[in-house]
Amino acid sequence: MAQDRDWRTEFMLSHTRLFDVVPDEPERSFGYPRCEAGWRDILDRLCFRIQSALKENEKFEFVRIKEKFGVLRIDWNGELSDETATSIHEAVNLATARSACTCDLCGAEGRLYSDDGWLATSCSEHAAGEAVAVRSGFENVRVMRRRPGSPDMYQARYDRETDSLIEVSSPSPDPEQ
Ligand SMILES: [Zn+2]
Repeated sequence: MAQDRDWRTEFMLSHTRLFDVVPDEPERSFGYPRCEAGWRDILDRLCFRIQSALKENEKFEFVRIKEKFGVLRIDWNGELSDETATSIHEAVNLATARSACTCDLCGAEGRLYSDDGWLATSCSEHAAGEAVAVRSGFENVRVMRRRPGSPDMYQARYDRETDSLIEVSSPSPDPEQ
């Protein structure tokens, strides 16, 4: 039995423009977060950004919010201007990048661990298994799509302090090159 009103339901109900919560069976709603509570703050930030990007007659819905390979994965649909779609796309990139350095259990700063192939982003206290090695100079660097559906990719470093992405030029800052 699902407990009544877990954090996931509370979260959806606090962003009513973005979620159509199924009465009595909130876990069947589109976008019901399939992740742990440590990422709730990331999801709240994301929803505030989406809400402020949305214009009056635009439609938006989450298709899926889940943890995959230790990182947040977010799918969405919308009837939106290009400008709004780009803003939402950037907000999703930020949320994904933040999840990759945030413990999914407690929300503290974390990194990727592999426990026998099972990937999770954790702080040192909640970590299980081995830290996944990152090439020197590539800490918190991700490759992302510049615009929704566009083949144009870019590399950016996520700055947790300011919650922002800073584009880094490729080729890589690998000291061996
Ligand atoms: Zn933790």
